[in-house]
Amino acid sequence: TIESEYAYIGAKDILKIIKKREPFSHKGTFGHVEIIGGSYGKIGAVVLATKASLRIGAGLATAYTPNCGMQVLQSTVPESMWTGNLPCEYFLEGNYISTHKTVGIGPGLGIHPKTQTFLNLVIKATKTPMVIDADAINILARNKEWLSEIPENSIVTPHPKEFERLVGTFSNDAEKLKKLRLFASTYKCIVVLKGAHTAIADINGNIYFNSTGNPGMATGGSGDVLTGMITGLLAQKYSPIQAALLGVYLHGLAGDLTIKEIGMPSLMASDLVNYIGKATLHI
Ligand code: AMP
Ligand code: MG
Repeated sequence: TIESEYAYIGAKDILKIIKKREPFSHKGTFGHVEIIGGSYGKIGAVVLATKASLRIGAGLATAYTPNCGMQVLQSTVPESMWTGNLPCEYFLEGNYISTHKTVGIGPGLGIHPKTQTFLNLVIKATKTPMVIDADAINILARNKEWLSEIPENSIVTPHPKEFERLVGTFSNDAEKLKKLRLFASTYKCIVVLKGAHTAIADINGNIYFNSTGNPGMATGGSGDVLTGMITGLLAQKYSPIQAALLGVYLHGLAGDLTIKEIGMPSLMASDLVNYIGKATLHI
């Protein structure tokens, strides 16, 4: 039936998904995230995503940025490691060798032609589901033939403008949802279409609407935090659809808890990172 294809996600659904941290676990148990992104002047996006991946519980995090991001990452996220391609100073370019970490790519990446080629190499080298956001989406929108190469059940997280770049314009919500479902099934990926009541489409045509979040979250860096959270959940072996649902729900809840303390206009993306822990306690 039509109803069964739509679900509204609340605390009860989330409680069923969330896993306990077992006593005899170690950092290897919780996976290793690799956040790939950043360009000159847009390194903060990687800082936010990397921090968020650790706050949601990833065991280890490595940031993969151009050289200009190294000092920034090492001083703002001392818990993380840094890697990159040494000759590239301002944007990512050159070769990519997979080290089989859980990849989240896009925040602050930029769309330089050489970075576009680099993204294609990352996609080709990655065999397990990855998170694709921001400029990685913008690059794919310019190179649609690469969409069929993304690993099955990867999670693509566009805001409405980015989604439009992928699928063209839509004139109403019904058309938007139709395109959402078609894109997810065509490219066998999970699509997180962000906004008020973020819609999450899986490859089987199901659509889930999120119940948390507020307009205070309409602020720079907000989506980069979500990318880090979902990548961190994937690294902890949540299935891709679980990681998407849980990440989106907790991200919105972190926003809701933030505004209770400091008010809606004051919310900054860093606050979301700092409230992830409280959000996990709250459900
Ligand atoms: P981005 O545009 O990539 O920074 O992502 C923005 C993030 O903030 C997404 O997770 C959106 O769901 C969230 N967001 C933006 N505007 C709103 C809104 N009006 N209500 C709830 N969440 C929002
Ligand atoms: Mg974004």
